[in-house]
Amino acid sequence: MKTIKLKKDSLKLIDDVTNDLKASPDLGIYKCVQCGMCTSICPGASQTDYDPRDMVRRVLEDDVTVIDDDSIWNCFSCYTCNSVCPSGNNASEINQILRQMSIEKGEGMLKIESFAAYGDSFMELGVGSIPSKFFDVMVKDVGPDYMTLKLEIEDIRSELGLGSYILPEKDIDEVEAILDNSGFKKRLERIKGCKK
Ligand code: SF4
Ligand code: SF4
Repeated sequence: MKTIKLKKDSLKLIDDVTNDLKASPDLGIYKCVQCGMCTSICPGASQTDYDPRDMVRRVLEDDVTVIDDDSIWNCFSCYTCNSVCPSGNNASEINQILRQMSIEKGEGMLKIESFAAYGDSFMELGVGSIPSKFFDVMVKDVGPDYMTLKLEIEDIRSELGLGSYILPEKDIDEVEAILDNSGFKKRLERIKGCKK
């Protein structure tokens, strides 16, 4: 096993990762022993060339090229790596921070552009929901019952004694105001415009 020697004068990437708003205070990146447990259990690693152990190594070695590495987009955010890590490290969290850095740089925008419809749907309904453009895919994956469920969901909820899942207009307006003031709306427009 290779020992990682941290560079004394260049820990910018680790600093940026550990100081990121998303980083947990107890993120154990410095305690990573490069055991590879995360990679051995990672579904992304089993199907693609993504390697969480190697991603952590590159961050520790201040290798900023990891931000532009396509493989980091093959993480499913399942957090299995975190549950098995003997050092309490969280490769999933590190991955999300690196992706965010890629989005800030611009390259990552194209990776998430196809999901922008989720943002639109959130703005429109005030709750997270599968956008209509993905219904065909859902029918393909889940079967025709998916559309039946979509069309009859209000009746099913009513039979179960549950209220409507459709928010009142005033609540949707409130959510939209929050998304607007927090910068979500502006960011969504930037993502949608990245292909133009
Ligand atoms: S399981 Fe934890 S300690 Fe082992 S390589 Fe992965 S992040 Fe490092
Ligand atoms: S969260 Fe990502 S890195 Fe961790 S096990 Fe799941 S797919 Fe792999």
